[in-house]
Amino acid sequence: MTKTPRNNRLIELSTAVAPVREQHRELIDAAIAWQSGRDRQTDPDHYALICAGVGHDAENTPTRWTRTGTNGVVRCGIPNWCSLHRCLWPEEILHAVWDWFDFLHDTGRMDPDSDPVAELRKPLACYGGLDQDGHPLDGAPRQVECECFLPYRETTALLADLVRQAERSGEDPLDPLRRAAGRSTRSPGRWEWDDPDDPEYGLSWTASGP
Ligand SMILES: [Zn+2]
Repeated sequence: MTKTPRNNRLIELSTAVAPVREQHRELIDAAIAWQSGRDRQTDPDHYALICAGVGHDAENTPTRWTRTGTNGVVRCGIPNWCSLHRCLWPEEILHAVWDWFDFLHDTGRMDPDSDPVAELRKPLACYGGLDQDGHPLDGAPRQVECECFLPYRETTALLADLVRQAERSGEDPLDPLRRAAGRSTRSPGRWEWDDPDDPEYGLSWTASGP
């Protein structure tokens, strides 16, 4: 008879996360209370696993999340924690993360330094294969472009800089990016800023071709 070596044995998730669940008991109990009566119910151990997967992440805490940090937690933090604690991570963990964000947002617990919830969902849709309601795509093509590795705030700040530069130069704000990516730009033509008093004030494209 072959005896499984003790150090190869799997540990039940509920046993492995018990100390984390206790550490974050108040928050997890609040999440379960929030979810009561909703369509989707989450195992409290799965919420505990999210807290465990955050660990000592530099960007995230259980209540402070960035888009890139979310990507790191679901791709590495949770799987690494489970490997280290010799337990299996449940398939539904990505849904649990989706619901965790909704819980934090709905109850005012999301740290204001977090990225917007819509941005936090993107890695779950891209890497996690969820649709825009947090349900599995079941093999259907993903519905978002990958932004898992793009820091939300710096990216939007840089894009805002490009728009300001375009305002001065008349260039299409995306042309510098198109050049950097080796794509053709949209010229001939130029972007013009409308009259600020116009109710539809913004950039409009004026083609200079025939
Ligand atoms: Zn992605």
